[in-house]
Amino acid sequence: HAKEKGKNTYQVYTKEMNQESFRKYCLERDMRKAIELNEFEVYYQPKVDAKAEEIIGAEALLRWEHKRFGSVSPGEFIPIAEDSGFITEIGTWVFKNVCQQLKEWEKNDLPFVPISINISPQHFLKKDIIELVKTSVAEFGIDPASIELEITETSLIHYSEVVQNTMSTLKDIGVKISLDDFGTGYSSLSQLQNFQFDTLKIDQSFIKNVLIKKEDSVITSSLISLAHGLGMNVVAEGVELEEQLEYLKQNDCDQIQGYIYSKPLRVKDFEDLLKKGLFN
Ligand code: C2E
Ligand code: MG
Ligand code: MG
Ligand code: MG
Repeated sequence: HAKEKGKNTYQVYTKEMNQESFRKYCLERDMRKAIELNEFEVYYQPKVDAKAEEIIGAEALLRWEHKRFGSVSPGEFIPIAEDSGFITEIGTWVFKNVCQQLKEWEKNDLPFVPISINISPQHFLKKDIIELVKTSVAEFGIDPASIELEITETSLIHYSEVVQNTMSTLKDIGVKISLDDFGTGYSSLSQLQNFQFDTLKIDQSFIKNVLIKKEDSVITSSLISLAHGLGMNVVAEGVELEEQLEYLKQNDCDQIQGYIYSKPLRVKDFEDLLKKGLFN
């Protein structure tokens, strides 16, 4: 690879980098052009009401089709974007892309479902997240209630005051906020009450073992009742098996997101599912 790039790059990058760090270097460099090259695409994964088995929302999940590496997972490129600071540009692009999509669905009379958008801690801690939400909602003429921001625990610990202020401004605007991957970070249950989250998403690592490890089933059912006690909605992520679904239903989990219903879909396929409605 490096050889194609000419002598300078060859010297700099094969001597000192192994293959892995070279790939990382390429991804960091190339993501800056990925937006204009149209290499990013937003996929949508349905969230399903546990009782009615209806689609009641979806999560926007970013995909990157790199011209040489092919499909690169967000698990790989999001951390790189976070390290380099480019995550703010990516987050802005995703946010506006979803707003535009929501507008189009409204124009085409598709059934309305709110969409969740992942916002990196770094981006959430910046002032311009509020600007982004305000201006985009106005520019695209979106009902703020049709947008939910997903943030992870990481941002809560050190900057809880900034987070609380940002959250209350965003909630005044009318968007919803959910706590993603709960249980994997370091925040404690007692901290939850200091934040006005609308929704708590139980991390898939608990769901995976919900029938195998006693601790994980206890944690899962406790999280559901705690969240309900604090007035939050609960989403279980990564539900793949019928038995997991049964356990979650029996323990009063509100919403299900997972392969058992659907993988993240391209717009066209998600629209087909929306029109069809019910899963059964
Ligand atoms: P996340 O926000 O926790 O998203 C859920 C992840 O779980 C997605 O992975 C989804 O495809 C996967 N998933 C859902 N159901 C199942 C299941 O039943 N089984 C399995 N094995 N996996 C399931 P994905 O799309 O690869 O995204 C990974 C992470 O990358 C996301 O985790 C999120 O943290 C980040 N990410 C994705 N898109 C964006 C974005 O637009 N902005 C930011 N900041 N982060 C993003
Ligand atoms: Mg998420
Ligand atoms: Mg998650
Ligand atoms: Mg995750």
